[in-house]
Amino acid sequence: MLVAYSRVRGAAKNHLAVVTIEREACGGCFNQIPPQRKLDIIQGKKIIVCEYCGRILVNPEYKNDYKAPEAE
Ligand SMILES: [Zn+2]
Repeated sequence: MLVAYSRVRGAAKNHLAVVTIEREACGGCFNQIPPQRKLDIIQGKKIIVCEYCGRILVNPEYKNDYKAPEAE
């Protein structure tokens, strides 16, 4: 979990887009995310990249804890 979080933060610093999943879809391009993939994201076991837009998908619950890259 912590490792995944750190990797997301690191990716953000490399200016890769990080978006949350919105309901069943990618928060960036709104394409549907397969249930298994969504599960992986929620569990935070690995970094999942949207296969449509290439953004990194994160659990929406990270939002409260996650500082937007431009805030640093
Ligand atoms: Zn997408």
